[in-house]
Amino acid sequence: MSHAFASTLQTFKTASGKEGSFYSLPVLAKQYPNISRLPISMRIVLESVLRNCDGKRVLPEHVVEVAGWKPNAPRLDEVPFVVARVVLQDFTGVPLLADLAAMRNVAHEMGKDAKTIEPLVPVDLVVDHSVMIDYFGTKQALDLNMKLEFTRNVERYQFMKWGMQAFDTFGVVPPGFGIVHQVNLEYLARGVFKTEAKKGELPVYYPDSLVGTDSHTTMINGIGVVGWGVGGIEAEAAMLGQPVYFLTPDVVGFEFTGRLREGVTATDLVLAVTEILRKQKVVGKFVEFFGEGVAGLAVPDRATMANMAPEYGATMGFFPVDDKTIEYFEGTGRTKAEIEAFQAYFKAQGMYGIPRAGQIDYSQIVSLDLGTVAPSLAGPKRPQDRIEIGNVKKQFTSLFSKPPTENGFNQPAAQLLTRHLVRAADARNGEGEGAKIPHTPASPPGAPRPVEEMAANKPTLAAALHEAEPALPAHGDMTVGNGDVLIAAITSCTNTSNPSVLLAAGLLAKKAVEAGLKVKPHIKTSLAPGSRIVTEYLTKAGLLPYLEKLGFNVAAYGCTTCIGNAGDLTPELNEAITRNDLVCAAVLSGNRNFEARIHPNLKANFLASPPLVVAYAIAGTVLKDLMTEPVGKGKGGKDVYLGDIWPTSEEIGALMKHAMNGKAFKANYDKVASEPGPLWEKIKGVQGQVYNWPESTYIAKPPFFAGFEMQPHHAEIGVKGARAIGLFGDSITTDHISPAGAIKEASPAGQWLKENGVVKADFNSYGSRRGNHDVMMRGTFANVRIKNLMIPADANGSREEGGVTLFQPGGEKMFIYDAAMKYMAAGTPTIVFGGEEYGTGSSRDWAAKGTQLLGIKAVVAKSFERIHRSNLVGMGVLPLQFKPGDSWESLGIKGDETFDVVIVADLRPQQDATLVIHSADGSSRSVQLILRIDTPIEVDYYRHGGILPFVLRQLLAA
Ligand code: SF4
Repeated sequence: MSHAFASTLQTFKTASGKEGSFYSLPVLAKQYPNISRLPISMRIVLESVLRNCDGKRVLPEHVVEVAGWKPNAPRLDEVPFVVARVVLQDFTGVPLLADLAAMRNVAHEMGKDAKTIEPLVPVDLVVDHSVMIDYFGTKQALDLNMKLEFTRNVERYQFMKWGMQAFDTFGVVPPGFGIVHQVNLEYLARGVFKTEAKKGELPVYYPDSLVGTDSHTTMINGIGVVGWGVGGIEAEAAMLGQPVYFLTPDVVGFEFTGRLREGVTATDLVLAVTEILRKQKVVGKFVEFFGEGVAGLAVPDRATMANMAPEYGATMGFFPVDDKTIEYFEGTGRTKAEIEAFQAYFKAQGMYGIPRAGQIDYSQIVSLDLGTVAPSLAGPKRPQDRIEIGNVKKQFTSLFSKPPTENGFNQPAAQLLTRHLVRAADARNGEGEGAKIPHTPASPPGAPRPVEEMAANKPTLAAALHEAEPALPAHGDMTVGNGDVLIAAITSCTNTSNPSVLLAAGLLAKKAVEAGLKVKPHIKTSLAPGSRIVTEYLTKAGLLPYLEKLGFNVAAYGCTTCIGNAGDLTPELNEAITRNDLVCAAVLSGNRNFEARIHPNLKANFLASPPLVVAYAIAGTVLKDLMTEPVGKGKGGKDVYLGDIWPTSEEIGALMKHAMNGKAFKANYDKVASEPGPLWEKIKGVQGQVYNWPESTYIAKPPFFAGFEMQPHHAEIGVKGARAIGLFGDSITTDHISPAGAIKEASPAGQWLKENGVVKADFNSYGSRRGNHDVMMRGTFANVRIKNLMIPADANGSREEGGVTLFQPGGEKMFIYDAAMKYMAAGTPTIVFGGEEYGTGSSRDWAAKGTQLLGIKAVVAKSFERIHRSNLVGMGVLPLQFKPGDSWESLGIKGDETFDVVIVADLRPQQDATLVIHSADGSSRSVQLILRIDTPIEVDYYRHGGILPFVLRQLLAA
């Protein structure tokens, strides 16, 4: 079939005279003049729709609709967006690989070629989420933490190696190279892609675009790539050639004017941007940055803004391609040919350069004068709660005694400054002064063993620690109190991809060391760069030794503290915190600070720039006003203030030459193939096209295709006789629903692991066990901080935390998992009720998969986070939304009722549904809800029992 817009296929030439063809938007604009006023991000989407217009997946009408995008119009049409590639991190990538492997099993069992299931676009998995900060503050920290990482994760890594040899287009960046989004920026992104040229024809060039299984995939928007985070289930569909469907978005134009003031960092700017955009309610919208102020920002600063799109709620935070983007490509070692093609392509499309005011029609415009941004932190519980640095002490003091409804900690004000004795470790261990605390729950006997042998014998951490030093330095008798900083981490792709803030941290450390300042040894300090390049330029700039003197030794190349892999505190500190109900703090250069994300015992978590992380580590408390009080005492007992050690932009600028070195980037990333590291090289995986699922508590055949048939079962629409399994408040995160962190021994998942021969020391985290549904379904709603409001409040008004519910009838209290199994055994469907922003936080497909496996048929909430809503549909669970003014509280729902969800007409997107509430006293009432199946394709997914069976049926039928 000929292309419906064949006349748009044109040619362009690079600076060296190389020719390529492309689907020309300027030519299409002759027919649809509106295109020249479209936001650049929408033009990139339009190019994909135009190029992929095949009359099947993408229709000519779709091209016309996107070409005719209007800034303000009802958003009813869905855009079929075919992406150029898919990026995965290992926590989300492993379950996705497990689903693909299970699909191959189905194909094989049906007598089809297993290769029917094969990614149709390049897929890159970067292993970054598994390393933890067990060791810190020593030169051996990186090595020791990586050894532990491999011991904990060998079964997962073996599975990845199977994937590498089974799928042609599936690549892995092994552990120890960096964080997915930074590696994506520095290495994986190619600017433009081209097709294999047919004989006698030119290759067709097209812009890079992607979806990733991580919310912060948006970081790539900093270099003009359209892409965002999706759940693993949508990513699987994308890699199997399905378009990613999304409702035509509003595009908010964000204009920057002016320049940042001296001493203000990109981190300060992104916290200000997050605060502003949160108020503008940009959920489901694109944000596109424009104006003089944007043109002046370097790419790493843009990437920092783009990274936090999930925190400000947008689908993307997009920066168009310009000279600064090209400079970044040159500085990161991309080839001349690639860079020339990139630049020539975007110029030919009329998409080169940062638009100025008036050039584009946006749905809405927001402005910020960069000169008004001040140094800030954000916290202590949400990224959008920005606090100027001079107000941190005041804010913490005020929140200390405020009730939880006002984001407070509900503590008696009089106890704010009380300090508590923490006995020296030797008092516990009986090992004398100066003994080290092996805080990792293991002891070190045993002889060295190679990795594969450890895998075969189900390794324990005890074995892995055979030669390791104990992890945490001991402290003598000391005191701890509210506001004490116990974790200070330079972490997260948001900042570690940005040399200006990392050089600033190094310079601050240098000045602090020279002034005689120190960090107390019990504070868990870490430097976890997002790529090895960071270490290289900090070393060349002569700054690494100063960071190390303050305890900020390189501890890992991975996500670490940002994802909750901060490792533990000493038992003494944990005990003191829990015994005295202390509100202690973490200060990190991350982007998220929800409760219990960083460490289960640290309630106050502040996001800050890397130099401020170092400063707060020195200060040791957030109860010190760093604008007026000294950071600490230096040489000769002299007070040293923040102003004395804060680096100037001139000092940072002078060192930037070390950061952008194309040769260094190339040499580093060439090693992904040539020198992936001895630990990785030793891993041996199953061979062959079909996975045979060796027994493992990490990887198990997912149950989603059990009893698969080519025809979908007739799905009964609606729900009858359901029980409520949870009544939740606002902002239930995907981490509440499916935690990534530690597995408690007494939890259903902990019990299952023990029953399967795993000792507590080897539990690892939920995130690392996402390849095993038995663990994950037991971990659903198992976050230690989740509050099921079905459980009555205590006398003091506080609520029980943890994944428990009341089983009805009778009201017996039990784990949500146990209740779910009882309901399923009785054939009783269940419903979850939530408040605003249900499913906010990281994109996490297990939050939807776990919900489905617990037999939950519907989630009724006041509003949904974008990805989680679509993931629920993708797993065949109904998302339903209360109409304005209604909530489960206003309807008097207590949890002992039964419920029907009635959907009268044929299933249509966003139609009304009726919730019928049958109270325990026999009375009934009903209320109207909105069905949040948003698009026609989602109706198909739901009817097929989810997106995975839908795609599998298509592939097997082809
Ligand atoms: S560093 Fe943090 S934000 Fe970046 S990928 Fe890792 S967990 Fe996500």
